[in-house]
Amino acid sequence: MSNLVVILHDQISESISSLKDFNKDSDLVLLYESYAYANRTKHHKKKLVLLLAAMRHFAVELEQDGYKIKYVKMNSNDDKGSLEDTIKSLSYEYTRVVVTEPSEYFQLQELKKLEIFTSLDLRPDDRFLASHQDFKDWSNARSSLLMEYFYREMRVKYDILMTDGKPEGGKWNYDSENRKTAKSNLTVPPTSFIEPDSITKDVISLVEENFPEHFGDIEPFHFAVTRKGALDVLQNFLDERLPLFGDYQDAMVSGEPWMFHAHISFYLNCGLLLPLECIKAAESYYQKGLVPLNAAEGFIRQILGWREFIRGIYWLKMPEYKDLNFLEAKNKLPNFYWDAKTKMNCLSNCVKDTKKNAYAHHIQRLMVLGNFALIAGLSPQEVNEWFLIVYADAYEWVELPNVSGMILFADGGYLASKPYAAGGSYINKMSDYCKGCDYSVTQKNGSNACPFNYLYWDFLVRNRDKLAKNPRIAMMYRTYDRMSEDKKLAIESDSKDFLRKISSDSYV
Ligand code: FAD
Ligand code: SF4
Repeated sequence: MSNLVVILHDQISESISSLKDFNKDSDLVLLYESYAYANRTKHHKKKLVLLLAAMRHFAVELEQDGYKIKYVKMNSNDDKGSLEDTIKSLSYEYTRVVVTEPSEYFQLQELKKLEIFTSLDLRPDDRFLASHQDFKDWSNARSSLLMEYFYREMRVKYDILMTDGKPEGGKWNYDSENRKTAKSNLTVPPTSFIEPDSITKDVISLVEENFPEHFGDIEPFHFAVTRKGALDVLQNFLDERLPLFGDYQDAMVSGEPWMFHAHISFYLNCGLLLPLECIKAAESYYQKGLVPLNAAEGFIRQILGWREFIRGIYWLKMPEYKDLNFLEAKNKLPNFYWDAKTKMNCLSNCVKDTKKNAYAHHIQRLMVLGNFALIAGLSPQEVNEWFLIVYADAYEWVELPNVSGMILFADGGYLASKPYAAGGSYINKMSDYCKGCDYSVTQKNGSNACPFNYLYWDFLVRNRDKLAKNPRIAMMYRTYDRMSEDKKLAIESDSKDFLRKISSDSYV
């Protein structure tokens, strides 16, 4: 009995389930650089460098550990044109093909087709902390799905931040303590900067040559591409930023794209870090008195709660989830999502950060880029494509529910109980963007008014038949109804004018 073990681009981990019973005498690992994957979505150049460099370093480490490896470089003679055809060309020498199930739906369908050619052992991805069946059982027992209840069960199951069966500190969730605005003299520690070695430099050249038209700046490239590097990034976060992670979780500051966030989603999603080790590390920092509870709990909730919940929804609802458009939003994505050329300082800053770093932190994605897409009625298909392209941590399993569910309400409220729509005052409260903006955040109407202000109301009016019954926003409709007719007409005409301008890519 001999196995061909296939390791996919986001399974870069020696503890992946496909390697669990690897026989170093008879088995072979296949690592395949997929041109098709790199080109199927025109990923940010930094994401391609990260994945290809991490795969190449991983192959070296496995070989040093005594694994037999077949490493197929992009466009080399060993490349049979696709991963599936390359597997087929090798599989006849092996009793079976072993793969940990892919994270994305389309890839699972492609791999399953191999079953007619070979014996395929598809293994669950036990890096995730809730299996598909766990999530199904949990969701079946409920009429509405709330992340908070899922998260509490996960805390109990993994015994994280629990004392005598009760949540540490007496509360499950310290989110209300995590909304401080940034003071002007706040010092944000720099993010980790890992110098590219010769392997990574080769990959940078390869990506430059093969994918010149892809979005984003390739240099400076400073991501970790090995497990050791990713562990160093985690350590740096625990020491430098976790203490204030909770306080400033929702804050946005011009020129500070990284804030007090962890910057580890790239590594969690490709395998260089494991979710449980990050959770336990944060818990132990709290237990040692090194960080406050609101910081440790806030961080742990993101991974044990949100990340697992999002993945659960994806696998429960695919493939239908991809086509949902509850609000029937149709407007095209404006060009400024690519070139940052807009007078709206918040959007311009977030797009510039994204292009440079293949990263924007959660509140930039949710309350600026996402909020605008929602209230401007942008098409879910175009918005999903953009979010999948531009971030180094983007994979459909995590991007799609965040975009269609969390920001666009395209699933009609399955994931989020209300749309995260907000006017300019939220952005003004949580950032310094408005100070440097051509628009006035305090003006509600007119050519100088912040577009978020009138688009917010126009969004509610446009979707009244679908949203008015939602108890969490019914009050906003009552507020709108009390407005004068002149005010309502101003909202309508400013919004029409603005939406017409963005549809023709005028400078707004
Ligand atoms: P931190 O803020 O430090 O949080 C720690 C970790 O928690 C993250 O690394 C991530 O693994 C996890 N996490 C936090 N929030 C979420 C969430 N909503 N869903 C899943 N995991 C979460 N995350 C991705 O990994 N890939 C994506 O493609 C992605 N697309 C997003 C699109 C939109 C519109 C929104 C609103 C959020 C998206 N997120 C995505 C979630 C979140 O914004 C990123 O995980 C986070 O910004 C990554 O930065 P960090 O590692 O510094 O995270
Ligand atoms: Fe953004 Fe409006 Fe503030 Fe300008 S005024 S930065 S558009 S929220």
